[in-house]
Amino acid sequence: MAVIVAKFGGTSVADIERIENAAGKIVKEVEAGNKVAVVVSAMSGVTNRLVGYCTEISPMHDVREYDTVVSSGEQITAGLMAMALQKRGITARSWLGWQIPIKTNNVHGKARIEDIDTAEINKRLEAGEVVVVPGFQGVTAQNRISTLGRGGSDTSAVAVAAALEADRCDIYTDVDGVYTADPRIAPKARKLNKISYEEMLELASLGSKVLQTRSVEMGAKSGVPIQVLSSFGEFIGSDRKGTLVTKEEDIVEQELVSGIAHQKDESKITVIGVEDVPGVAAKLFKPLAAAAINVDMIVQNISQDGLTDMTFTVPRTDLERAKKVLKDDVTLNYQDIAVNENVAKISVVGIGMKSHAGVANTMFQTLADKGINIEVISTSEIKISVLIEEDYTELAVRSLHAAYGLED
Ligand code: ADP
Ligand code: ASP
Ligand code: MG
Repeated sequence: MAVIVAKFGGTSVADIERIENAAGKIVKEVEAGNKVAVVVSAMSGVTNRLVGYCTEISPMHDVREYDTVVSSGEQITAGLMAMALQKRGITARSWLGWQIPIKTNNVHGKARIEDIDTAEINKRLEAGEVVVVPGFQGVTAQNRISTLGRGGSDTSAVAVAAALEADRCDIYTDVDGVYTADPRIAPKARKLNKISYEEMLELASLGSKVLQTRSVEMGAKSGVPIQVLSSFGEFIGSDRKGTLVTKEEDIVEQELVSGIAHQKDESKITVIGVEDVPGVAAKLFKPLAAAAINVDMIVQNISQDGLTDMTFTVPRTDLERAKKVLKDDVTLNYQDIAVNENVAKISVVGIGMKSHAGVANTMFQTLADKGINIEVISTSEIKISVLIEEDYTELAVRSLHAAYGLED
């Protein structure tokens, strides 16, 4: 008898019909003799609407109250899912984040799970009940509701699976696995049967939103196998294989490049004419960090006459705040700030890169052949990222996908 955590994302519980379809899968999983905990997202579009309400009240709203508002979407789905299961003769009960409890730190809006008390869940599973848990939410030590950042239900699911030492965490979504690129923009993308935690972690952190980055981190740490699969159709996780996210040594055929990720909605800021002296980078980035602005892809130009330029990217939603922080910072001397609001980051990821030269050159040549200008480059052992004009995202992803021979 296996313990399985099954998570259904927003589109998979978008309406009552889909909740019923998801419940049907859980019934089959139970009939197959498995103990099942279900983690649900808010119905598709609900979280966006709730976030919109908060912003409408005030863009500077209290982040604790933001969590109170946005966590509510998952509560609705959890109750509906329990009802749909009960209708099918299954003993099921929903357990909200604070009832379990799923304890998080107090970084509201982006909280991290610190501990999950499994006593109640285990008791219920042992008694043959299905436990339904709303994703995305937890409770802080101050007894306030917290949320885990957008896409956080994936992390809730893997965290519950890790705490229960589950045999598998099935992530049911609107695609039938992890692809070599986002299938919505690269129609020739290929489904991967397996991918290592390490590569999936890079893809997720570089924009492949099929799994939230922290869920992969948690999978890697705990060793829980994560299976990404489609919620549409008749099959269930126990009999139909999606993509298995697993340890590197379990992957027999190692590809040179396993995938292309893209991240739109980035902005590039160049601070022109800062003094090229020790401590200037610290001075520049400290106030941005204090304002919780995520800075990425930093480059410093060569120095001329003791002055240099610093370029970096921020999520577009943080651009105005970042500009304000820099303008208000009286300790930093610079001549000007230049902004390119619409840039995208395109990344090529693959463990095979560790031992093969020429991967970067293929990327640069492919983009050059398409007339796409590279604004910033950054690399790590298993990835190369470039910054380009956002309008070229689709063209860049498709061309690179073909250039690395990833097509079907
Ligand atoms: P859910 O609501 O189920 O959590 P998400 O919208 O968060 O679903 O994630 C699924 C989406 O991730 C897909 O619809 C797809 O467009 C996108 N995606 C991005 N990169 C990839 C990839 N490499 N493989 C599969 N899907 C991807
Ligand atoms: N509902 C939340 C979101 O839309 C969490 C999730 O679905 O993973 O970000
Ligand atoms: Mg998601």
